[in-house]
Amino acid sequence: MALRFRNSLTRREEEFTPIEAGKVRMYTCGPTVYGYAHIGNFRAYIFEDLLRRYLKYKGYEVTQVMNLTDVDDKTIKSSQAEKIPLKEYSARYVQAFYEDIDALGIERAEHYPAATDHIPEMVEMVKKLVDNGHAYEINGNYYFKISSFPDYGKLANLDIAGLKPGARIASDEYEKESVSDFALWKAWDESDGDVFWETELGKGRPGWHIECSAMSTKLLGNHFDIHTGGVDNMFPHHENEIAQAQGATGEKFVNFWMHCEHLIVDGRKMSKSLGNFYTPRDIVDKGYPPVAMRYLLISTHYRQQLNFTFKGLDAARSALERYNDFISNLEDFPGGEDSGGQATEAIAKAEKGFEEALDADLNISEALGAVFDFIREINRLKADNKLLATEKDAALKVIRKFDTVLNFTYGAAASSDIDAEVEALIAKRTEARKSKDFALADQIRDELLAKGIVLEDTPQGVKWKRKI
Ligand code: AMP
Ligand code: ZN
Repeated sequence: MALRFRNSLTRREEEFTPIEAGKVRMYTCGPTVYGYAHIGNFRAYIFEDLLRRYLKYKGYEVTQVMNLTDVDDKTIKSSQAEKIPLKEYSARYVQAFYEDIDALGIERAEHYPAATDHIPEMVEMVKKLVDNGHAYEINGNYYFKISSFPDYGKLANLDIAGLKPGARIASDEYEKESVSDFALWKAWDESDGDVFWETELGKGRPGWHIECSAMSTKLLGNHFDIHTGGVDNMFPHHENEIAQAQGATGEKFVNFWMHCEHLIVDGRKMSKSLGNFYTPRDIVDKGYPPVAMRYLLISTHYRQQLNFTFKGLDAARSALERYNDFISNLEDFPGGEDSGGQATEAIAKAEKGFEEALDADLNISEALGAVFDFIREINRLKADNKLLATEKDAALKVIRKFDTVLNFTYGAAASSDIDAEVEALIAKRTEARKSKDFALADQIRDELLAKGIVLEDTPQGVKWKRKI
């Protein structure tokens, strides 16, 4: 089966073929760095991580760009409230963002361009839009003229025929009801304080939407394969990105638009403005490992809303435990008798199930279903001692292959990754037990537990795992 994605632009599922054979170029709208990203944002980034990892699993070379919005209405306002220069203020949250994506096992994109490093490209694009009759200037502000772009509204499926001509909006974010000519460049006024650039367009700063059009086309070319974001980005942000990029270059901008549904809390979108959000740091403070968050966020199909609850997080943690225990117990299994081909069959079935599910617009719930069926079947064969050493190796190989997409094993590292301090404590405890100093042995066990390391005494010696 070929890989298929639902394209928001055509509102249909379509077979995916990249522009350049074997290579995928994709743009993923990144964080506005004015605070810690919340787990709603990370739902979008984890969906994009799944997409990226599965494209690589399918053998594509992926070039992903994720922008950092470090100048816009929100970043300026927040930095002023704290009386810190904009760049210094946003640098703090850029750093936190990198820490969080690493903690959540999100593979790094190839490029993280910051808007403030690409002002000349944005100015160029606005100038082109003026030359092409798509933009105009009023008092140093530049606006995109939506009546000049007949395709405006196609992505969000808007009927713009009834709009009053000449309506204009200066703010970056607005609702469908106020669709109108939008700001490309904002002339400086006192409210922007020391945030401005002296450019050919005058003294001012870019609007939010032009940032993504300018940086994506610079790094990925005028026409590229995939553009993603949360559904809230579809209008006006992505609609405006299309108008700007296509208006400036005259070429088609993006082939596939993919949008993930929201993470919600009590029926409402998790968002900073509603104040109903948790950051990954909040969740870790409550005793959950980041990988449990990863599991929770990845495991619902990206086009379905995901209701956040701690019960859901507990279930994610148990599923992860089953997954990681399966791998470590299988690693320790010496191999048994012939299953008469049952194991080989289970492996082939799992591979087929996993790939068919993800090929169908990243149907992760079905893919995980195939993985857990496989785990159950191999565990059953192992319990019956009906698993040859070669079959065991093949089963481990396939789950490790799945794990290049799922990435559920980081943080539950094998003993080869154990750090020296933990290793030394385990050795000290073994010595203590040998000399029958059980009080010391127990004390060391507790000390390790506090570090998240669980010990198990088996006939083969001490085994350990990270607490999930
Ligand atoms: P922002 O920093 O607000 O520009 O958002 C960054 C990314 O997170 C965008 O792709 C948004 O669409 C996405 N996003 C924001 N809130 C949520 C949510 N509650 N659920 C899923 N994605 C979200
Ligand atoms: Zn964007």
